[in-house]
Amino acid sequence: MHELSVAATMVDLAVEEAARLGAVRIHALHLRLGRLSGIVKEALIFSWDAACQGTALEGANLVIEDIPAAIYCGGCDTERELQSIQHFVCAVCGASSVEIVRGGELEIAALEIE
Ligand SMILES: [Zn+2]
Repeated sequence: MHELSVAATMVDLAVEEAARLGAVRIHALHLRLGRLSGIVKEALIFSWDAACQGTALEGANLVIEDIPAAIYCGGCDTERELQSIQHFVCAVCGASSVEIVRGGELEIAALEIE
């Protein structure tokens, strides 16, 4: 399962960062997850406990911040939230030459440590 390896990577990064900060325990990991990241949130949550087992993150909470997908439309000269991740078009003028500006995030936003 793809999400399990993603969870394991997040755990590795968090463990490294916590060690660098001299933390004893990690209470929670805050993750920014974009809608275009290709990661299924539920599957990631499901994989979390297994990925944490035997690490400094064992028992830590996974707090996910959903990042909506956004595009920039040159025709309207503005940024808009993407209505559907299947259709990369501007919801107002219908232009398809849009630029994705947000939604691909998969990054650790914060660690709650002790
Ligand atoms: Zn537009």
